[in-house]
Amino acid sequence: MPYSIYIFPLLSVLLGYAVALFLKPKNKRNLKLLLAFSGSFLLSLTVMHLLPEVYESDLQHIEGHHHHHHSAVGIYIMIGIVFQIILEYLSKGAEHGHVHTHDHLHKMPWLLFFSLCIHALLEGMPISNDNHLAFGIAIHHFPIAIILTSFFVNAHLKAKAIFFFMFVFAFMTPIGTYLAENLEFLTHYYTQIAGIVIGILFHISSTIIFESSEGHKFNLAKLSVIILGIILAYFM
Ligand SMILES: [Zn+2]
Ligand SMILES: [Zn+2]
Ligand SMILES: [Zn+2]
Repeated sequence: MPYSIYIFPLLSVLLGYAVALFLKPKNKRNLKLLLAFSGSFLLSLTVMHLLPEVYESDLQHIEGHHHHHHSAVGIYIMIGIVFQIILEYLSKGAEHGHVHTHDHLHKMPWLLFFSLCIHALLEGMPISNDNHLAFGIAIHHFPIAIILTSFFVNAHLKAKAIFFFMFVFAFMTPIGTYLAENLEFLTHYYTQIAGIVIGILFHISSTIIFESSEGHKFNLAKLSVIILGIILAYFM
């Protein structure tokens, strides 16, 4: 299924955009549950699939070169975490479904747009090596697209601007995957790039899980979808 790794992350954003435009979901609780599920699924895929694969590819790289350096994956993961923290200064947390409705938006929120695009582009890259991640990113971006579109509509951003924003955002992840598969330069630095993306995914998914549990009150529905996300990733 070579095309599905491009199509799922693309369609999930467009679907989220359409759902927000036409169905206008009012139920915040279901959206929160979906977010919690997506965070847990994404984190599980990261630790069960991506993390072991990256360490493995790094070890092979070391053996092949007969160097005596130790694995540098860890430092790239930390760089990814710091990078995502910096991105969120610009996006105010839109990557994990955090938006604030106060003012009307009279022009394109460019900072938000660029930081979200960089985030989505990077996330697409390790999909070329681990196709399962396509589902993780797709499920992660679906509620984000619903929340962002609803936010823009409520902030009276022009319909054309919303369309442009969501359409470009939707294409960023498949473009990232395509670049990683076709650019020699990126294939060579796969370990480093994947390490950075793991850091991004760690930060994003744990923030999603954290922010979806208001006040640490016990919530059976949320706990259930979190466990469901783990089980689903385990059997992929
Ligand atoms: Zn996998
Ligand atoms: Zn937040
Ligand atoms: Zn993302």
